[in-house]
Amino acid sequence: MVIKRAFVKKLSPTICFIMENLYPFKGWIFGLFITSTYAAIDLTLKPYIVKLMINNIPNVRDPILFDLLFHLVILYIMASFFMVLNHRAYNYIWMQLNCGLKKRLGLEILKLQIEKSKSFFEDKFPGNLASKTKDVMSGIPDIINVIIDKFYSYTLSIIIAVVVLWATSPKFALALTIWVTLYFGVSIFFSSKGILYCNNAAENRSKAIGAIVDIVTNISAVRLFNRKNEEYRKFSSYLDNYVITDRRRDIFFISIFSYQGLSFVIYQGFCLFCLLTDLRDNNITNGDFALVLLINTSIVNSLISISWEINRFSTIISDVYQGLRIFLTPSTISTKANAIILSNDNNEFSKIAIKVNNISFAYPNNPYLFKNLSLTILLHQKVGIVGYSGSGKSTFINLILREYDIQQGEICIGTHDIRDVTQDSLREIIGLIPQEPVFFHRSLKENIAYGKPTATEEEIIDAAKKAHAHEFITHLPLGYESIMGDRGIKLSGGQRQRISIARTILKNAPILILDEATSQMDSVTESYIQKELFQIMDRKTTIVIAHRLSTLLKLDRILIFSQGKIVGDGTHEELLDNNEHYKILWNKQINGFLPMLQDKKQTLKYKEKAF
Ligand code: ADP
Ligand code: MG
Repeated sequence: MVIKRAFVKKLSPTICFIMENLYPFKGWIFGLFITSTYAAIDLTLKPYIVKLMINNIPNVRDPILFDLLFHLVILYIMASFFMVLNHRAYNYIWMQLNCGLKKRLGLEILKLQIEKSKSFFEDKFPGNLASKTKDVMSGIPDIINVIIDKFYSYTLSIIIAVVVLWATSPKFALALTIWVTLYFGVSIFFSSKGILYCNNAAENRSKAIGAIVDIVTNISAVRLFNRKNEEYRKFSSYLDNYVITDRRRDIFFISIFSYQGLSFVIYQGFCLFCLLTDLRDNNITNGDFALVLLINTSIVNSLISISWEINRFSTIISDVYQGLRIFLTPSTISTKANAIILSNDNNEFSKIAIKVNNISFAYPNNPYLFKNLSLTILLHQKVGIVGYSGSGKSTFINLILREYDIQQGEICIGTHDIRDVTQDSLREIIGLIPQEPVFFHRSLKENIAYGKPTATEEEIIDAAKKAHAHEFITHLPLGYESIMGDRGIKLSGGQRQRISIARTILKNAPILILDEATSQMDSVTESYIQKELFQIMDRKTTIVIAHRLSTLLKLDRILIFSQGKIVGDGTHEELLDNNEHYKILWNKQINGFLPMLQDKKQTLKYKEKAF
């Protein structure tokens, strides 16, 4: 078993994945082999019975030979009956294998995708990933079907046919062998070209599917900017590539099939000519004549079927290969084998909650965003982050969440480097209210309870009340049972943010991060929620990113981010006194949001009002 596993690991990750997932179904696969073996025998068995019958027909009036003929007829009927049973047995086994394997593959692929880092999803269309999932889920069972039911069964039937023909006349066995070899030789010779055509077609098909999903996802932007014609044109060029590569593949296979069809006509002509002369010279019986023709006919059907299957097989193989190549790409964020499970209970945080030590980070193929950045956030400290958009605020949060790995330095939660802890436990102790919350196409209740699956009805309502979402939810016809549209499009931006806050309130994690959590709310709702949020922040280490400085006034500390650097660190008053960046930001906001507040005294008045 160990040797077998080591051998499997040596194979390519794709084959390794397929074999590991097939292993639990070995019993069903064996069943398919047995039924396919019978089907292969049947292909020659029935022509052979027909041969025996024809040879005995002239003697039908002889009672002994009539008896033999009668038994042959019974044998023929039984062979046909067993073949029907065999087909149904194959169907049943295939159904069991197909259903079980598809489910297992679906779950395995979801597992692989869930483990991927944020960057994995950033450069891929969601529709493309969905279509690749489907390709792998249905492709692997299809590969098994083609290999066993077609390749194995038909190859075996050809071998049996050659052996039976050899017994009749070696000439026909040789002719069949030569023809099949040429037929397959040419097919295999061109198969790498065929796979290439299939790969291109599959690639362009998923690009076209991805493109239409992208357009549909952004349909409101298409309408708003009146870009219908442009999108038609763009999609049309995707379709052109798709159709061109599809056509190239089909033309290639049409040429191959033409060659194969022609070769059969020549082979069958040769057989007929030899059969006639042999019959004339009494070298073969009438039964042999029928046997050769019947075997040829069933073999040619098998070969034509294999040719089609080679075409389908190449398409499936390239679809599965492309899908698995994406899913099996190792995640850029890995968890150590001996990773620690972070927990709030075992006193991980003595005094320091988050320590960022001399970190440098750049997005792939981008210049450094952070260079030698250091920062310490104490336990239960409430830290605000401000800065122009693009200054690195959200990236900083993503680094704490280990959505990306830093290139230098370390980020510690309590005493542990986040690379030494499990990703699950890291995310368990952080509650994030993101800039753009996304939701499942499920009920509001389920979406809120996502923060705590065991939450009771009361807890869900309580969280919604704190997030000031209860009122609008109860005004909906179905209340908490209302289904949120795809990504929550049935709610306004502000309402979605409130649902997101409720969800995070339920999670009740010791570290709370708000990334522009109230940016889409009206200022009245925002000021109500600020009060609630401040209570929720109690005894939690909190980071608040906000574009309205007024929402940060009561925090212990405000950090100013500018182009990946911290250019200010202090309380609101300290910064207003001695930080030019902050003064500029504050003055701009006074102009934009708070025209009444011009000096520090007025700010303090506002601060009292705000909370
Ligand atoms: P903020 O939240 O302060 O507005 P971000 O952290 O989102 O800023 O972005 C900081 C910089 O990093 C920006 O220049 C942005 O374009 C870039 N950036 C953000 N996300 C990515 C990404 N996934 N890949 C490459 N660059 C990115
Ligand atoms: Mg941001």
